[in-house]
Order: sequence, then structure tokens, then C-alpha cells
Amino acid sequence: MAKQADAQADKYAATDAGHTGERLPPCEPCEALAATLNRHLRAGLCRDERRVEDLFQALALSVKEQLLDDWRATRNADNDYGRRQVAYLSLEFLMGRTLGNALLNLDLTDEARRCLTEHAVALETVEEAEHDAGLGNGGLGRLAACFLDSCASMDLAVTGYGIRYEYGMFAQKIVDGFQIERPDRWLKDGNPWEVRQAQRALTVPFFGHTESYVDRNGRRHMQWVGTQDVLAVPHDMPVPGYRNGRINTLRLWKAEATDDFDLEEFNQGDYAEAVARKNLAEQITMVLYPNDASENGKELRLRQQYFLSSASLQDLLRRYVRRFGEDFSHFARHNVVQLNDTHPAIAVPELMRLLMDVYCLEWDQAWEITCHTMAYTNHTLLPEALERWSVRTLGHILPRIMEIIFEINARYLDSVAHHWPGDGHKLAAMSIIEEGPEPQVRMAYLAIVASFSVNGVAALHTRLLKDGLFRDFYALWPERFNNKTNGVTPRRWLAHCNPRLAALLDSRLGSGWKSDLSLLSGLNAFCGDRDFIHAWREVKQANKQALAELVSRECQVQFDTAMLFDVQVKRIHEYKRQLLNILHVIHLYQKILAGDTEHMVPRCVLIGGKAAPGYAMAKLIIKLAGNVAHMVNSDPLVTPWLRFAFLPNYNVSAMERICPGTDLSEQISTAGKEASGTGNMKFMMNGALTIGTLDGANIEMMEEVGEDNFFLFGLSADEVAATKRDYRPQEFIQRSPALKAVLGLIKSGHFSLLEPGIFEPLVQAIESPWDQWMLAADFDAYCQAQHRANELYRNPERWAACSIRNTAASGRFSSDVTIANYRDEIWKGA
Ligand SMILES: *Cc1c(COP(=O)(O)O)cnc(C)c1O
Repeated sequence: MAKQADAQADKYAATDAGHTGERLPPCEPCEALAATLNRHLRAGLCRDERRVEDLFQALALSVKEQLLDDWRATRNADNDYGRRQVAYLSLEFLMGRTLGNALLNLDLTDEARRCLTEHAVALETVEEAEHDAGLGNGGLGRLAACFLDSCASMDLAVTGYGIRYEYGMFAQKIVDGFQIERPDRWLKDGNPWEVRQAQRALTVPFFGHTESYVDRNGRRHMQWVGTQDVLAVPHDMPVPGYRNGRINTLRLWKAEATDDFDLEEFNQGDYAEAVARKNLAEQITMVLYPNDASENGKELRLRQQYFLSSASLQDLLRRYVRRFGEDFSHFARHNVVQLNDTHPAIAVPELMRLLMDVYCLEWDQAWEITCHTMAYTNHTLLPEALERWSVRTLGHILPRIMEIIFEINARYLDSVAHHWPGDGHKLAAMSIIEEGPEPQVRMAYLAIVASFSVNGVAALHTRLLKDGLFRDFYALWPERFNNKTNGVTPRRWLAHCNPRLAALLDSRLGSGWKSDLSLLSGLNAFCGDRDFIHAWREVKQANKQALAELVSRECQVQFDTAMLFDVQVKRIHEYKRQLLNILHVIHLYQKILAGDTEHMVPRCVLIGGKAAPGYAMAKLIIKLAGNVAHMVNSDPLVTPWLRFAFLPNYNVSAMERICPGTDLSEQISTAGKEASGTGNMKFMMNGALTIGTLDGANIEMMEEVGEDNFFLFGLSADEVAATKRDYRPQEFIQRSPALKAVLGLIKSGHFSLLEPGIFEPLVQAIESPWDQWMLAADFDAYCQAQHRANELYRNPERWAACSIRNTAASGRFSSDVTIANYRDEIWKGA
């Protein structure tokens, strides 16, 4: 076997090195994988012992080699522009690990498993040696990753454009209950998946100033001169479709210094200083800003946004010109740029600049092209997340771009004035430039003005955009607004992360559900089938065991799989109301201490998530969770009924273990604040029941599964808005003995004996009439919903039937469905 593999490897290597331009000879997949694996192991090591990390590197390189031909073929086919090309621009791609997903999509899992038996290692062990690619904060970045999988699997010509951050999302440690951030050096062992394309590098200008000049034909143009240029070097990651031969590309840009930097300084003898200055250019792609749902008002962030936008658009224009020459009249028919949130909105004036200053188009033609190319997805209603850049900063870093924004605004305000004659307030309210002592550019408005499509990410969110935040724009251009409810890929979030359930589904439904998740509705036929319910419960039990092992290892808390697993994992934010969850844990704790445990179902509560490093309240919520967990878990009277853990460093790989082992999914944001959510969908797909508010996609989930299979509670978005006008939390507290007791226990210092008063800010926030998140208003309803969950769980068969119905109803939340809607309604012709 080994000898045969070596012969294969030699043949393969010879063909590869020969650059004959021929296709590699077809070979049995297993032989090819085993052979390349051994070749990479030999080539990559100069010692005898091999670690699991080495096996991972070698296997990843081997899998990459397997897909190179298809990758090239995909690229060549797409370069013909047989259909519209989509560029998905996103500052974040939260990819997680690649190996397991690539093996699944390429149908190589069994082959890889067999190859590894020779090395006496389980595939799962090798998979766990891969470092997560954490190039995103949370839901928005993970959505981009799910979309890439769906686009490739649906055979769409979609390229992801992002930034190759040297340091991704920080690693979270918990020390004495406090969050500590550690840098995430995900590239330290190299990235076996990426292909560096130095020959395709582009330059991106910064600083300098603008000048006008008149060309030979007497036409006036602007030029941006005296710039400091930064090189954008593509690093391509393969995105294999599900068993369809398509390999799409995620192109991540790395900033590097140009070679001709500061010649002046060289010549003046400051050689070493000039070389050292190279670092300034490379800073641009050094680190991901770790703020979720709030703006990053730092100059470096603006530079990242422009760097991504400019490099990606130059790449699109270069490809187009290579195929069609400089006739741009069909550019928009062949290209669409989808902006993932407001972050890359600077692409609007950048496309104008490139078309006018580089390709010499007139304003009107450039504007026509831009407006038919750009499409904008909004992800949040929180005002603190709406990006604005001061005119001063933007004008200093990107002077030519600032000029173009002023011109866009002037022309657009003419049309506003035409629509609302004589309404000065409308002009000021809708202007891209917000006037004031420090004038600001409203980036979201810039995106709307130049986009043919503006979409929200769940039905409620889109309605709130139309009625609230973007009401005036909706009045002006109603045809631009549309909804695209988020989804998650069933390959990673069911087939890969839950192999036990996947096998059970295959046995009853066949395997078609992996590319048509609506087939899961076939499960409804089994809700009354005793054997099936039994098998379903065994799967859940095994998955709970795996989750319990993770919690034991990471939190030193023992979860018992006979108890109800109640889980809330997501970024820590006040609007997501982890605090409400903790108040309920304290409420149960008090009931247990009072001996009030009749009919109580024993439960294990898990909370996990990262707080933005500058977000003091979020960090304090983590601290409270830790302190409450300590009191709960160290009291032997309590632990038979309740256990509570905070899981450090929540990320994609952790979620792959968490969602299959969860009974009850917490989706309890203040209604109207969570644009969609996607964690909610991962849990539902894996058979968790949801306790949740009428927020984001929860509403659509409940419509699909029916209110009887969902623990709904709390104010609706409209009720939140109405209550806000005259909110009196004290009245809710006085009316609720349970809430009064919980707040009393926190205030008594029970959870902060050695740290007196530290939780004061949390209690004050709940008691404040300005509490936007309305914890006090929803607390009793939440406890009642938790009680309903408790009652249902007492009947395990009925719970399992509801669990089956949740998975059965989750088909609509496949990102394949979402992407089909983008394709049909926005990316027409893709
Ligand atoms: C799915 C996912 C999210 C989004 O979760 P929400 O509950 O929708 O906020 C965030 N982080 C990770 C790692 C995820 O996998």
C-alpha cells in the first residue's frame, strides 16, 4: 500500500513540477489523498516524530491539492462572464475551521479517515488541531461565511472580498471572573489553505491632495497626487461547493509596503529609518476591531474600509477590462457589489473615482454604472452602530474621495428638494453630510443613495427600517427596499457539526436534505413514532455528553446529561439581555434555597460570549455570571437542581459542539433590537426549543414551527416603543416579588462578598427609567415562559416531539434559501 502510494506521489509530483499545462492524470481519490498526505508529511518535516499539528498541515495541503484543478476551472469559466459576477464585500468573514467542511463538501471524509488509520489518529483529532479563522466579531461575519458556502453550493459566481487580519478576534480568558483579551495569532503556524497571489497585487492610495488638469481634448479632470501608496496583496482561500465541482474564492487582502517608498529618505541616507517605516503600511491589516454592534471611530478603521473597497473594486475593473476592454456600458449587467453592512460603503465614491479618474468616464455615466452595481445590506437599527466619519478626517486621509462625496451629495439633494419643495428640514435630515460644529459623513445614507437595492435581514427588521431609521428614503425610493431573512448553512451547522443526527436523518429521509433543507419537513411524519423518538433522544443524549465534556474541560463545572441544558451563547451585549438570563438563574437559586423545588426540572445553564474590550457593562455582566456560578456550583443543596457555567472563548468551533447538545436556546433580546440573529437558527436546526421574544428572525421561526413549540414571552417591538415613552421600572419591580427578591440578593452583596458594590451599575441600570432594554418589564413573563419549558421537559416524549418539529420546520432558515432570494431578486442574472 505504502509503496503504491509513493509511486502515485512521484507521478503526481512529476506532473505538477513539469508545468506541462495538461490536466493532472485522474487517479483513485483515496490513493491520491494518501499519497499526497505522505509526500507533504515527508516534505514538511525534518524530524521523525510527527505531531497532530503536522498531520493537520499535511492533510490540509493535500486536500487543497485535490481541489486545485476545479478551482482553476471555476476561475477560467467565470472569467468568461457567462453570467453576472457577484462581489461580496465584507470587513468580516468568521470562517472557523476549514478542514472538516472542505472534506464534507468534496466528499473526501471517508477517504481522509482511511488515510489517517495508517497514522493511528482519528480524523476528529486532526480537525481539532486547526486554528479557527476568527476574522469576524459574531453574527455578521458568520453570515458572510455561511453565504460563501451556499453560493458555491448553488453554483453561483460569487467572490468574497475581505481583509487578511494578522490578528483575528481576540481569545478570551477569564481570570478571577474578569474577561482578559489575548491576541489571536492564528497565522503563527502558517495557513495551509491560502494561496498568495503576489503577481496580482494592486496599490491603494492614501493622503496627498487633488489637482485639476486639462487633457489634450480640453476636458478637465481631477487627479489625486502626492499619495502614500500601500500594496494590496491577495491571499486566496478556496470555497468548495457541496459536491458540485465549483470552487469559489475568498480573496483576503494583505497590506504591504510598496518597494518605492520614500526614495527621498533613502537618498538622504536615512536608509534604516525608511525601511522601518514599511511597518506603517502593514499596520492596516494588522488587527480586526473587536466591536460588535458599535462603531469604531478610529482612523485606522477607515483606512481598513477604504483599503478593502479600493483593492476589491480595482480587481473587478481589471478583470472586466481584460474581458471587455474599456467599454463600461455593460459593467453593471456583468457585475454586482453586495455591501455587507455599512462598513464598506466607501466603495461608492471609490467606484466613481476609479471610473472617472482612471478610466476617464464622465460623471453621469460613472454614476449610472455605480447605481446599477451597488447593493446594500443593513444589519442594525442601533444608532451607536451607524458609522459616521468626520469630514475633516475623511478629507485628510482620502481627499479625492471627500470631493466626490460632496458632489454626490449636492446632486442628490437636488432630487430631495424636487420631491419635497421648500422643505429645509428634510434636506438637513437626509443630507449625506450632517452639519454641526464637526460635520460628519453619514455612511449609511451614502450607501442608500447609490444602491439599487437596500435590504434588511429579517421581516421585522426590514419593516422597522422602512418605518423608522430610513423612512424618508423609503418615501423617496420604495422600490429599492426589500427583505432577505438570514440563514445558516446546513452543511456546517447540521451535517458536519451533528454527525449523529445527520445519520439518523439520512436513515429516514435519505441524504437530499443537505442541499434541500425543506426536505426536513418529512420529519413531521415521525413525531408520533416511538422508535424514532427513542433514537432522537439517544442522539441528543450523546450530544449532551460531548457538550458536558467541553464544559467540564473549559469551566471545571460538571453538567449532568439527565438535566435540561439551557444555553445562551452570543456576543455579550445589553440588548441581548444575558443579564435577564442571570436574574432567572438567581431566581431559581432562591427557590431552591427556600425548598420550593416541587416539579422543578434540574437544569444546567450555560452562558458564553465575548464582550468588546471597551464595553464596561458587558464585562461586568460576565463577572456577575462567574460570581453567581461560583455560589450555585459550590452549594451541595443547590447542585442537584441547578448548575451554571460561563464558557470562555466562545467561537465557531465551540458552537459546533454547543448547538447539537442544547435542549433550550435562549433568544431573549429586547424586541426591535436584534436585526435577525443566526444563532437562533443553528439551535433550531439541531432540535433545540427556543425561549424567545418577538424579535428578529425569532418571529419567522415561530411562524414556521407554531407557537405551541416555542416559548414566547415579553413585549413586542411596538410595545417596547410605546412603553419607552413613560417607563417606570419601579412599578414592575414592586409588582414582582420574584424580581424584588433577586435584586435584593444582588444588592445584599451575596455575590460580591469580597468585592463590595461591584454590581451596583447593573442594578442601577435595571432600575433606571432610561433602561432601553426593559429588563424589569419582561422579567415576570420570562420566568413564566421558563416555567412552561420546565413543565414540558417533565414529559420527555412530548419534549422530543417538539424538538423533532423544530428541526422539521427549520428548512426555511437554510442560507441556501436566503441566497436563492438574493440571486432571484437582487443579483438578477447571476
Ligand atoms: C452564529 C454565531 C454568532 C451569531 O449568534 P447570534 O446569537 O445570532 O448573535 C456569533 N458568534 C458565533 C461564533 C457564531 O457561530
